[in-house]
Amino acid sequence: MGIPDYPPRYDDDIVRPFWDAAMCGELRLPACSVCGAWQWYPHGAIACHPEAHLDWRTVASTGTVFTHTTVRRSLLPDGKQEAVPFLTALVEIDGVEGPRLVTALVNMGDRKPAIGMRVRLAPVQRSGFVLPAFEPDD
Ligand SMILES: [Zn+2]
Repeated sequence: MGIPDYPPRYDDDIVRPFWDAAMCGELRLPACSVCGAWQWYPHGAIACHPEAHLDWRTVASTGTVFTHTTVRRSLLPDGKQEAVPFLTALVEIDGVEGPRLVTALVNMGDRKPAIGMRVRLAPVQRSGFVLPAFEPDD
């Protein structure tokens, strides 16, 4: 299995704290500064409290696979074809109600991905960024 290597958009200030945290080996997600509702994916307007700002919070590095699939065909330019196939998943982070993180599953060995599988953060260095991937937590 490959591992995606598509650089994130660092020129977007609103999501940069997520990628900066990944570089430090942790997960940070934004929440409404007034009521604490998670705001993933972050954007400029906070629906619950428009006067609020995004409060970036460090969250658990463990979670549960909500769903998964194997990506076998890249939709990106030919230079990125070497990344496929790879395992991608939606992970529910422990203690974070609502948002699910799109991520890659790595270090699977002989294990097959499964809905409900417990996973932990396994950051992977890629071309100029760290991908916050997950691996089995057993
Ligand atoms: Zn709010």
